[in-house]
Amino acid sequence: MPLVAMSEMLLKAKAERYAVGQYNINGLEFAQSFLKAANEERAPIILAASDRLVDYLGGFKTIAAMVKSLMEEMDITVPVALHLDHGMDVERCKKAIDAGFTSVMIDGSHHPIDVNIEITKMVVDYAQKNGVSVEAEVGTVGGTEDGLVGGIQYADHHECTRIVKETGIDALAAALGSVHGPYQGEPKLGFEEMELISNMTNVPLVLHGGSGIPLHQIKKAIELGHAKINVNTESIQVWAKTIREVLAVEGTVYEPRAIITPAKEAIISVVKRKMAEFNTSGKA
Ligand code: 13P
Repeated sequence: MPLVAMSEMLLKAKAERYAVGQYNINGLEFAQSFLKAANEERAPIILAASDRLVDYLGGFKTIAAMVKSLMEEMDITVPVALHLDHGMDVERCKKAIDAGFTSVMIDGSHHPIDVNIEITKMVVDYAQKNGVSVEAEVGTVGGTEDGLVGGIQYADHHECTRIVKETGIDALAAALGSVHGPYQGEPKLGFEEMELISNMTNVPLVLHGGSGIPLHQIKKAIELGHAKINVNTESIQVWAKTIREVLAVEGTVYEPRAIITPAKEAIISVVKRKMAEFNTSGKA
């Protein structure tokens, strides 16, 4: 099955009140684990490469080729989108599209809204010609991502409405109190703002920082228009924890397959749990 854009996936999810998970690739074993979980759960899935990790992962072409050939070798029969997470500029989004990514996020959230809209529109124009979906961000997700630390800045509903109307994006990440990385205490998502933004924009919303949010808040975010939830920290935490345990128990082990296979199983369990929580299981 070929890769698909995320537009249709997200419209269906929004209409049927569930969310498709975005799981971030941190190496070959992550992509394998995500695809296996999705196929077994019969769940649509978004595999993502964060722009800051693209070089570490071998470049856009390597990532696209890896995901495409894994889908073939693993006989994956559920919808899969390959997405660029936090695309840093227009050129990098175009490079991802040229390499075969079927979805991109242009993160212009650190620019004033007029500039954010301008660069987002440039990406949408290029993406639409290639059948690729686009996500944009307004406001700032807090916390650490790939070494960068930022504070929370809530999205403004007028700015959200403008970016959706003026660019034609497929999905909007409106920052409303979530953070990348572990939460300090219980997350406080801005549900009133969320309802307002969802009603005003009527576009599928994206929840960044999906790790560690209590289930009742996840369910409410989905009810209020979130059709995509991004998860990275929980996958990499369980990967590291499992490898530490294997190394501690089997002090002389050195074969990568023996060390990494239990970590892959642990990632698959986390993703399957997320698919049940986001109500994505069985929706493919
Ligand atoms: P977490 O690392 O907090 O799960 O967030 C992932 C994310 O939002 C990627 O864009």
